[in-house]
Amino acid sequence: MSPVIPIQAASGMGCADTPVLIQRGQREVFCGLTGIIWLHRKIQDAFFLVVGSRTCAHLIQSAAGVMIFAEPRFGTAIIDERDLAGLADCNDELDRVVSELLTRRPDIKQLFLVGSCPSEVIKLDLSRAAERLSRQHLHKVRVVSYSGSGIETTFTQGEDACLAAWLQTLPAAPTSTQSNLLIVGTLADVVEDQFRQYFQNMGIEQVDFYPPRNSRQIPAIGPQTRFLLAQPFLADTARQLEAQGATRVPAPFPLGAQGTTQWLKAGAQAFGVSDEAFETVVRAPRQRAEVSMARHREQLQGRKVFFFPDSQLEIPLARFLHHEMHMHLCEVGTPYLHRGHMAEELALLPSSTRLSEGQDVELQLDRCRADQPDLVVCGLGLANPLEAEGFTTKWAIELVFTPIQGYEQAGDLAGLFSRPLIRRLKLAA
Ligand code: SF4
Repeated sequence: MSPVIPIQAASGMGCADTPVLIQRGQREVFCGLTGIIWLHRKIQDAFFLVVGSRTCAHLIQSAAGVMIFAEPRFGTAIIDERDLAGLADCNDELDRVVSELLTRRPDIKQLFLVGSCPSEVIKLDLSRAAERLSRQHLHKVRVVSYSGSGIETTFTQGEDACLAAWLQTLPAAPTSTQSNLLIVGTLADVVEDQFRQYFQNMGIEQVDFYPPRNSRQIPAIGPQTRFLLAQPFLADTARQLEAQGATRVPAPFPLGAQGTTQWLKAGAQAFGVSDEAFETVVRAPRQRAEVSMARHREQLQGRKVFFFPDSQLEIPLARFLHHEMHMHLCEVGTPYLHRGHMAEELALLPSSTRLSEGQDVELQLDRCRADQPDLVVCGLGLANPLEAEGFTTKWAIELVFTPIQGYEQAGDLAGLFSRPLIRRLKLAA
């Protein structure tokens, strides 16, 4: 097995001071409605009602595979073109749709009204609609609104907007003197269970997750709360948690064996867990992760990877591919660079990394062609044209839908990058 490159800034602060290429041109991204796909699976008594156009309905139905659910927990209230005078009708219609839905589906305890970008929807005040509907359906369902609009956002921001808006509407938690560790960001249930077990085995008693699986099990949040971000796209949610008194624990993200170790370690240190107790818990799963990644490293090491901006996971993934898969980073593009939340990750990237924020897609395609990477990580819209030019691509969105965090998933994460290369080799043979 090849030795793993030690996860530490090789010299100075890694990429922390590296100039960033800022691009503000044409972009290729999905909108924030996409977040409904993983959020509705996570919060099992919630319903997401998109207030939008037929385009929004098509996007969400085709992306979420509506056919596999007998009773889907998302839908679209289609608002047709109306002038301002028709807004009263719109609100009446929304109230009627919600009443019918809640009568038919008493299992729904949390309703999200999700705004979109058609101009008729932007004219509607969904936050007032949510307040009105919460009053109408008091004690049965809570109603929260947020925007999943595609204007000036990227698709993972839908989750951030949802979680931040929800926090603002929660009733004040009873004051608690017991410290709690809050893991923030949607994780697959299997990953959540593993993380809970590790922290509890270290002796941290109160470990909570946000969003929760059940909308009525919102953890107490206050000055006693230390939170770890499990996803790197939650800037507004983190700001809201801090406004409610919680403290963020800085850490890299739990991708790969080393990222997971540092992330768990940051949580452990915040709760005074000894190094010995920490090692006892993580030693075996960390070794399993290293074994499961080794065969993928054989395919990936020495290869060049180029990231187009899409999911906001790009920087932690680049760190993983460089340190644990020994890949060379050509360009690491991200839609937004949050220097505070990314500080630990940036310090771990090689200082020679070309970092870019935002997009001017034609210029970025030119840079990609000049770099001739072995693997391109990009959105769906760019993948087919790049494949047609002979590049091997990985759809960035798959990395959001697949459980990739933690030790037990580290091999699967590596496999998501090695498989396209193997497929290309087979096609060429
Ligand atoms: S929210 Fe906007 S970008 Fe997203 S599907 Fe609807 S119309 Fe399209």
